[in-house]
Amino acid sequence: MITENSWVEIDLSRIVDNYRIITSRVAPGKRVTAVIKANAYGHGDAEVAKALEAAGCGSFAVANFAEGKRLREAGITGDVLILGYSPRELIPDIVGYRLVQTLVSEEHAAAVARPDLRTVFAIDTGMNRIGIDGENTAECERIVREYAKKTKLEGIFTHLCVADTPCEDGFTRRQAKLFYRLADRLSDLDLPSVHCLNSAGIIRFRDEDRGNTVRLGIALYGLSPDPAVALPDGILPALEWKTRVSMVKTVMPGETVGYGRAYTAEEPRRIATLTAGYADGYSRRMSGGGYVVINGRRAPLAGRVCMDQTTVDVTGIDGVGPMTEATLIGEGITADDMAAITGTISYESLCAIGVRVKRIYK
Ligand SMILES: *Cc1c(COP(=O)(O)O)cnc(C)c1O
Repeated sequence: MITENSWVEIDLSRIVDNYRIITSRVAPGKRVTAVIKANAYGHGDAEVAKALEAAGCGSFAVANFAEGKRLREAGITGDVLILGYSPRELIPDIVGYRLVQTLVSEEHAAAVARPDLRTVFAIDTGMNRIGIDGENTAECERIVREYAKKTKLEGIFTHLCVADTPCEDGFTRRQAKLFYRLADRLSDLDLPSVHCLNSAGIIRFRDEDRGNTVRLGIALYGLSPDPAVALPDGILPALEWKTRVSMVKTVMPGETVGYGRAYTAEEPRRIATLTAGYADGYSRRMSGGGYVVINGRRAPLAGRVCMDQTTVDVTGIDGVGPMTEATLIGEGITADDMAAITGTISYESLCAIGVRVKRIYK
């Protein structure tokens, strides 16, 4: 009996299946790094990493030191790459936990370098976020070679910013060209980690890529980087987000529901109150236009999402009462549907699922 007011159910075997499907599609011998930053996009990083490690995955990527540390404390022994910046004060712990640190700039490299620090250098090929300037291949080569001496350099990577957008494929190919021009000049270093493909890149550019590793994020969780990009067959979402009804009442014509009196009943309506709100990460932008699924039917939101509760119209839906389950993400409403309603992307909808929402694994 689940007694939580809001919970997510995660099918780890789906995530493992998604990992295997992608792995079977990339060139043999290419390593698939599972990107499990942001609590594995809301799915629970330690649990996801353990399931993947048991399935043979030996490489993980996180956003920061705390996320990497948590994986080590959960017993993960594979490679763990920190994709983002870490200040020099954290370096002793990063070495201690055998994490791999991204060097985001020459300045950063100079600040953190020590001979026992495992590193990869970020190369900027057009995203203009982190990395040394990939346009200037000679300068990049000089910097990378310097830190191959001053740190335990394991690789270089770049990040594609429009790999999900066919009309931008010229830009993506240019990013790859700049990156591999540098990689070719560094080939004598035999770097074990040379990569540029994210999920969109894996799906759309796997045949052209010359790296030895790919970084698998959103597709691992069964979602497409862009709803317009088709996922390979068999890739399925692994998460359902649920809440339940606390009470149902009839609201008479002219009566309003919730803060701001944003909803007015035109006729008698059955209104169900749900036990999740924006403090659980259920976006307030679902108000007006959003819906949940109850007993297989859509129940539109009635009024504004509150901090801990949400009201929905269940008129005409049979069998709704206290303890009836409502699906926020799952059968009948995907993370992409939610994202479309709230004007964002599935990534943000998933990451937003709050810490007080219990993760239940099956
Ligand atoms: C988050 C991230 C990824 C994963 O991207 P997806 O689109 O989820 O596959 C890959 N590389 C870097 C550098 C990232 O920050």
